[in-house]
Amino acid sequence: MNKINDLCNFLDNSPVNFWAVESTRTLLEKNGFTQLEMRDQWSLTKGDRRYVVTNGSAIFAFIVGSDAPANAGFNMIAAHSDSPGFRLKPGCEMLCEGNIVKLNTEVYGGPILYTWFDRPLSLAGRIILRSDNPLRPISKLVKIQQPLLVIPHLAIHFNRAVNEGNNLSKQKDMLPVIALSSKSHRNLIRNLVAEYTNEKADDIIDYDLSLYNVSPATVTGINNEMICSGRLDDLSMVHAGLSALIDAAATSSRHTRVLAVFDNEETGSGTKQGAASPVLQHILRRITYALGGDETAYMRAVASSFMISADNAHGWHPNYSEKYDPTNHPVLGGGPCIKVNANCKYMTDADSAAVFAAICQKAEVPVQYFVNHSDVAGGSTLGNILTSQIPLRGVDMGAPLWAMHSACETASVSDHLNTIKAFTAFYEL
Ligand code: ZN
Repeated sequence: MNKINDLCNFLDNSPVNFWAVESTRTLLEKNGFTQLEMRDQWSLTKGDRRYVVTNGSAIFAFIVGSDAPANAGFNMIAAHSDSPGFRLKPGCEMLCEGNIVKLNTEVYGGPILYTWFDRPLSLAGRIILRSDNPLRPISKLVKIQQPLLVIPHLAIHFNRAVNEGNNLSKQKDMLPVIALSSKSHRNLIRNLVAEYTNEKADDIIDYDLSLYNVSPATVTGINNEMICSGRLDDLSMVHAGLSALIDAAATSSRHTRVLAVFDNEETGSGTKQGAASPVLQHILRRITYALGGDETAYMRAVASSFMISADNAHGWHPNYSEKYDPTNHPVLGGGPCIKVNANCKYMTDADSAAVFAAICQKAEVPVQYFVNHSDVAGGSTLGNILTSQIPLRGVDMGAPLWAMHSACETASVSDHLNTIKAFTAFYEL
């Protein structure tokens, strides 16, 4: 159960994308990985453990293989650091009757809105501080630990039909309250964050702050078989990939092993730190070149590589069996799932599915298949977007979840342990 305690700590320490990257970075540093900067010249040798951070919200770790990438390729796992939720807008403080202050927010990605009501929330992200060079302001992480906010639901007495379905406006219904009788609402957030970080409010030029659910990750079920937490999608897969990379690091491999944690998957990956950008391609090229290879060596490396695109799947829900495919509905506790889509929304094909199934067999882990009910449009993920940047052979997979994009999702303890086992076996190839 140690790995599950680790997962719970990882989730609790990672309330938003920036902190997920920080938690990953901390664990990598503890295990002998050192940081490289994209703007520096790189020199690498066999066995080096390195990582790169981009925008503070995406992280790419690798262990240089004993054979050149051109010969052995990259064995890669990809996941994402971001989760759906609410971001503060600039100038977010809104003064209401009785000096109540609420905050103006914008929805990020596709959260299940009503799961965010009536629970203690707080703020986390980063502030950007003035420096002598306008081109290089200083970024500093912020995580306000204590509960700070609540999005109060309307009482049932004002809407007796609330349980028959209730349309929500993101602008009207979802704004959190931070204070009941504030003396001054102007710059309330800036002053609060300045005090919290020991910085001068005037030095804070801007911020990326998001709401987060302060309830810690919790193991539940009569046999402690479930885990409930915000951000399981996709931090459980980030954690599994990271644990596997660290566990496998003791074994040398001819393959250069890579863990890629992208940002902005929930909004379509279209940022410089997202999977639709060339960021991973650049890093793989840089690795190849730093080891003495050229462009042909890079292309040979890509042709020999394999990608596991790890993002959670939908587990069969006991209250909604009609939503699932009649023959491919993975269950929580049944093991990691290979995701298949005839219209190529997943990168999986029979060849790459067979590779992942064989890895699971080697790791003695059960494997399941997820396919959408043909009348239900599914989501997309990292794999197919990545292949537009790098023509990689690979599989889309993930451990099954309930309530994907809820403020509190549910997954299976054994699936997480089995996912780590499968990933470790992959990195040990
Ligand atoms: Zn996801």
